[in-house]
Amino acid sequence: LRSKSTGLPDVKERTLIAVKPDGVQRRFIGQIIQRFEQRGFKLVGLKMLQASEDLLSQHYSELRTKPFYPRLLKYMSSGPVVVMVWEGHKVVQTSRTMVGHTNPAEALAGTIRGDFSFHVSRNVIHASDSEEGAQREIQLWFKGRELLNWDCCDQSLTLAV
Ligand code: GDP
Ligand code: MG
Repeated sequence: LRSKSTGLPDVKERTLIAVKPDGVQRRFIGQIIQRFEQRGFKLVGLKMLQASEDLLSQHYSELRTKPFYPRLLKYMSSGPVVVMVWEGHKVVQTSRTMVGHTNPAEALAGTIRGDFSFHVSRNVIHASDSEEGAQREIQLWFKGRELLNWDCCDQSLTLAV
């Protein structure tokens, strides 16, 4: 598929990124957004909310049998989160690399978790782990009209593959 306006390949892969309550409390929203912007991804949705345990139980449904699951829901509903949808070439895989290992003790320096956190129970950020997971999570957190299709001035750079 090619964009009607630019004739370049359409890059529609999207992922859900969330600054978790500890990331908001520690004032990392700006630095986290900055990393995705400077990498060249396009922000197509953004909002701040305090998530209900119901929403979080759907978001983390795969983890419901884990021993830490009740604590995870309590943590994630304890304060506001900033949820975002970022778009671009291989954005799911690239953002997982940018975010780093789930356990901050194993996350490399230079990754978001490696730079901003030290414990798995307070690891600052969420990123979808697959394209299918991303689509499911985006539909869960956002209404269609909350996502914007807009042309970036540097599209010719970000789409040159
Ligand atoms: P992620 O995709 O890297 O966020 O990791 P998972 O999907 O496996 O887990 C979701 C979230 O649950 C993680 O980001 C952590 O916040 C939390 N979590 C995962 N494993 C543990 C654990 O062993 N203990 C605690 N307390 N929290 C965990
Ligand atoms: Mg996960």
